[in-house]
Amino acid sequence: MRFTVAIDGPAAAGKGTISRGLAERFGFAHLDTGLLYRATGRKVLETGLSPEDAAKAVEPEDLVRDGLRTQAVAELASRVATVPEVRAALVAFQREFARREGGAVLDGRDIGTVICPDADVKLFVTAGADVRARRRFEELRAAGQAADFQDVLDEVKKRDARDMGRADAPMRAAEDAVQLDTSQLDIDDALAAAVAVVEARLEGQKV
Ligand code: C5P
Repeated sequence: MRFTVAIDGPAAAGKGTISRGLAERFGFAHLDTGLLYRATGRKVLETGLSPEDAAKAVEPEDLVRDGLRTQAVAELASRVATVPEVRAALVAFQREFARREGGAVLDGRDIGTVICPDADVKLFVTAGADVRARRRFEELRAAGQAADFQDVLDEVKKRDARDMGRADAPMRAAEDAVQLDTSQLDIDDALAAAVAVVEARLEGQKV
């Protein structure tokens, strides 16, 4: 069976947790596509390669290295993500992943619009910038990283603006995406809402 779930939305809206939860629940493979951009940004910094060559050189092992989740790497990622050649270099890997047997969940910014416009389910997960910054701040603190709330909020807003404002594959909801605002939801409720959307689609396919 091939079944693709595309999940897009801004940082810390809950799409990672929802994606992992859906993958576990339905036995789908999961790809956090932000890691591709994070690994690319980091390769540029470490090797001095151009962003395009760094994207072409990204290997699966680069996606599981420590230290990819920091704010500094996120900033680098959103810079290289504005380069069309970088995005182009990462398309094939993502599309192949989406078509894998057994089903796949991909989360990012342009999955429902550019990478998998024919996805079986599209979700756009959002939450207010303050709520997202608060979540990110708590995560950083829990991970033992020093953080200032105002800095985290500024960072979240700056990254949103860059991701929405870029010319190539800007972050936006696909017209046929189901919107899920998690500002007032805890993770169990957000996941339950996403599960209901996937179940309805799977049921529909059986008919
Ligand atoms: O999701 P995450 O915060 O890991 O993404 C890091 C950055 O990578 C985003 O801010 C965005 O600029 C970029 N990205 C993207 N397209 C995707 C996934 C991530 O442009 N599909």
